[in-house]
Amino acid sequence: MHDHDHHHDHDHDHDGHHHPRPASAEELRARALEALLVEKGIVTSDAIDAVIDRYVNDVGPQNGARVVARAWTDPAYRERLLADGTAAIGELGFAGDEGDTMVVVENTPAVHNVIVCTLCSCYPWPVLGLPPTWYKSAPYRARVVAEPRAVLGEFGVELPDEVEVRVWDSTAEVRYLVLPMRPAGTDGLDEEALAALVTRDSMIGTGLPLAPAAA
Ligand code: FE
Repeated sequence: MHDHDHHHDHDHDHDGHHHPRPASAEELRARALEALLVEKGIVTSDAIDAVIDRYVNDVGPQNGARVVARAWTDPAYRERLLADGTAAIGELGFAGDEGDTMVVVENTPAVHNVIVCTLCSCYPWPVLGLPPTWYKSAPYRARVVAEPRAVLGEFGVELPDEVEVRVWDSTAEVRYLVLPMRPAGTDGLDEEALAALVTRDSMIGTGLPLAPAAA
């Protein structure tokens, strides 16, 4: 799974629907490849299922949320995270395919960061799991670059005019993670409670962390 840069040709995965649809060309190819690999004895279906299961159940945005919560509570960790994302994320045990080189970009009152892969669907798997369908869609990939504020508005993120929006284009080599701003009113929360406020979209830049429940 290291050679992710092999399929920069799938411009037709614009299935932003929530109803059943015919299998896409990629899905059919993936099924055919799996059948062939199993038939040739190169892998077993169980092994493929195990990889999928791992990314569905064990590796997901909860990993990234732990990274963010640690950065919010530990200034030294935050500095290490911004200086060398791969190493600092690795300190928490998150590493591997599709996240070999991680760069963490920090939101501030002056700068809001958003990540995309304009070519296909490069995404930081070890911290966010598998990408959402919209992240892979042609409209998101094109529009977030051309009109980021409009796209953010559609996600419900309204930024003051003076906030600069920076769009980071992921590649096979470099994957980005957004470090969102810690929400107001969270001074008394511990790391675990903070992590629960960190949404997937807030680490892509298309969302903001949740507000703490009124106590
Ligand atoms: Fe990509």
